Amino acid sequence: MNTTLLSEDKVIITAAITGGIHGKWANAALPVTPEEQAQDALDCYNAGAAVLHLHVRGADGQNTPDLDIYNRAVRLIGQKCPIIRQIGNGIGAQLDEKGAIINATLEQRLNLLNIDPAPEMHTINAGTFEFRTKYGGAVFNNPLAFNEQYVRKCREKGFGIEIEVYDASHVANMTELYDMGILARPLHFSIVLGIMGGAPATPANLFHMVGQLPEGSTWQVVTIGKYHLRSTIIAMSMGGNIRTGLEDTLHYSKGQPAKNNAQLVERMARIARDIGREPATVEEARVILGLSGISA
Ligand code: ZN
Repeated sequence: MNTTLLSEDKVIITAAITGGIHGKWANAALPVTPEEQAQDALDCYNAGAAVLHLHVRGADGQNTPDLDIYNRAVRLIGQKCPIIRQIGNGIGAQLDEKGAIINATLEQRLNLLNIDPAPEMHTINAGTFEFRTKYGGAVFNNPLAFNEQYVRKCREKGFGIEIEVYDASHVANMTELYDMGILARPLHFSIVLGIMGGAPATPANLFHMVGQLPEGSTWQVVTIGKYHLRSTIIAMSMGGNIRTGLEDTLHYSKGQPAKNNAQLVERMARIARDIGREPATVEEARVILGLSGISA
């Protein structure tokens, strides 16, 4: 894969605007209603993002598997701009009355494949592990058989797939599905760093996991929290694609909350241009991600 320091390839910027953990209590700019999300999608698109990574929230601000809300958010975003819509298939954590985290069921997650209008891409999460945050943790259940089922259905329906790997073993799981012929090229990986229970955000972990990817894969880094900026710049310098947004970092810099999602995208677009890599347009990203045959 292309990890040359002098890559002039376009960089695909994904905006992860809401996420599955935080609410407005963490940053008031976090969009939670479909209307707020559609406006943020437009602002991020105008700032240089080609892909929009989505989780939705119910009226109580919590993550929800409610398809009506997904349908509304995906439709409103599509009406605002042509940004590629990507559904995070973990749905996100909900809290019970005691504050304990309850994860969405595998059935609820499979149901995301029925969102109407259909988004162009879904993420899969490449392995089961204990997903921990400073607020608590829970086992994030991603059995290989579930991923196999999810991938098969995505391919049947013509949806693009983003593969999120939180550790090197997850790359091996996906290589297994690729060798079995279940996953097919083009393969797109998100190397997720900085989630407790997954790989810590270190350059060595990034280099190692990029080196494990099947030949010809494209990849982006998703770095959570205080390591977000520097880790993302390393990945961009290595020829990777990148993701930013309030799902990944609530802060613009140390002690300074981000003003909004677009501010985070603008910064990454600026840095990309400064190092000689133009942000990919939606059309260019569709070609790179193999979505060009998929109707928007
Ligand atoms: Zn997500």
